[in-house]
Amino acid sequence: MKAINTANISAAQQPQTSWQYLLSHCFTDPVSLAKFLQLEPEQLNFSAQASGEFSLKVPLPYAMRMQKGDSRDPLLLQVLPDPRELEHFPGFVTDPLAEADANHLSGLIHKYKNRVLLMLSGACAINCRYCFRRHFPYDDNKIGSQQWQKILRYIENDSSIEEVIFSGGDPLATSDQRLDKLITQLGQIKHLQRLRIHSRLPVVIPQRITDQLCQTLQKTHLQTLLVIHANHANEFDLQVTEALDKLKAANVTVLNQAVLLKGINDTVASQKKLHTASFAAGALPYYLFVLDPVQGAAHFDISDSQAQQLVAELQRELPGYLLPRLAREIPGKPHKTLLAI
Ligand SMILES: *Cc1c(COP(=O)(O)O)cnc(C)c1O
Ligand code: SF4
Repeated sequence: MKAINTANISAAQQPQTSWQYLLSHCFTDPVSLAKFLQLEPEQLNFSAQASGEFSLKVPLPYAMRMQKGDSRDPLLLQVLPDPRELEHFPGFVTDPLAEADANHLSGLIHKYKNRVLLMLSGACAINCRYCFRRHFPYDDNKIGSQQWQKILRYIENDSSIEEVIFSGGDPLATSDQRLDKLITQLGQIKHLQRLRIHSRLPVVIPQRITDQLCQTLQKTHLQTLLVIHANHANEFDLQVTEALDKLKAANVTVLNQAVLLKGINDTVASQKKLHTASFAAGALPYYLFVLDPVQGAAHFDISDSQAQQLVAELQRELPGYLLPRLAREIPGKPHKTLLAI
């Protein structure tokens, strides 16, 4: 990972920069990020030790949506290694979803009925501090070509599987060529109906939605969905909207999932803006997750009853199709648990 040289990419050039370049030239150092945001490094509540455990990583297009001069910017707070991450809280653990138990075949998680998750890539374009997979053993889950053959056979041999979900890490950190090959092979499995991709890349580096990717998604006979992940209205801009427009033109259904985070999006006004902006950009609100109790993220936590009250108030503000489903993942359960409001 190279440190970013912001002198090399101006705001005007950024839309034409390739996604691969932006992915390999993220901000990883708090001093250059502070400078870019017109802040003094001391103004950032940065912990080098927390960054040592899960590093600072922010791509330029995302950093450009942060407010200059605001050390409490809601996008910045999602990615800034915070000293509070080092405190231990009872119940906040490294594998909160006990995924190790459902990880039968390396690279594949079969814990939901009719659908399997494939861990296509261990890399993410951005390191979100609240991520429930921040401690996931990605290195044990690399999918090489032999492993891919085993995965294909696993799916072929289980006709109850209707949907394949590309997960990660970020599955779109993979090349278009590889995705095209994998999707073509999956398309030959008769009983598969749907392909879903869960990715934060269309939001954090919208250049990732290339023409080639759209062609691959358009030509498969599988119904395709892409679930993006944005937690704040400011994460949407014109470039994101254009990327989602391209996906929709390729017949991809685009949904957004968000995580409820204290200090970032935990007010009715902020939630209303988020889901309205998401829909305006082309993504229908899908889930609003309460935080998974992952070690290092307790300072983002909101109680279930506060979350339920917030969504009850939100319901008065929004039409039904803009209201996300408030949900929690409970280890061992083969589906999300909806938190009734
Ligand atoms: C919950 C979850 C899914 C599948 O759940 P649905 O209810 O089918 O949307 C897929 N991927 C991830 C990362 C999830 O957390
Ligand atoms: S992009 Fe998704 S998987 Fe990657 S760190 Fe953020 S929340 Fe976690």
